[in-house]
Amino acid sequence: MNWWLIKRIGNINYPNGQLNVLPAKLQCLYKRIKHYQRSLARKRNTNGEKATQSNNYVQTKAKLQRDYRKIANYQHDLIQKFTTQLVNDFDQIVIEDLAVKQMQMTHVASKGLHRSLFGYFRRALTYKCEWYGKDLVLADRFYPSTQRCSHCGHVKTGEDKITLMGNQKHHTKHNEYICYACGARLDRDENAVRNLLQLI
Ligand SMILES: [Zn+2]
Repeated sequence: MNWWLIKRIGNINYPNGQLNVLPAKLQCLYKRIKHYQRSLARKRNTNGEKATQSNNYVQTKAKLQRDYRKIANYQHDLIQKFTTQLVNDFDQIVIEDLAVKQMQMTHVASKGLHRSLFGYFRRALTYKCEWYGKDLVLADRFYPSTQRCSHCGHVKTGEDKITLMGNQKHHTKHNEYICYACGARLDRDENAVRNLLQLI
């Protein structure tokens, strides 16, 4: 049985749905993290280099790190369970090397977390595939899974390209893939997934 996976902002998409690595449960932790970060930045702005020596600063920083750890632990646990389920259910798994897509995520404040999370996911999946003798295919980072039409193979270029915001020239939404060569209308993620599956 074939498989594919895409890591998108906050989610890992797969044929049966999405694994949300940022559930509501973690949203309030993220809010708190933002609050601590602002507070620390303010202290540094006001007191300069001396700021980091104050008790208050050290305490806030410790709280911030504690919340980061809580989130990471929770997400690592999710990923461990998820990767175990994947190697149990499937013999072939395709994942996309998202270095390029990660760069498109720079507007996301917590990008660092997501980056390390994808790395963690890939490492866990790699050694589990080895343990259980499953095939893991890493799609080339330059494979145009987003721009390619999974029906006819046409690859969008220039102004026709779709971005995270859709396409301005054709007024399409971020989740639409419309092929101007064969007329296919597809869900953007589904189309990308079908393209990845064609690599096997
Ligand atoms: Zn097409």
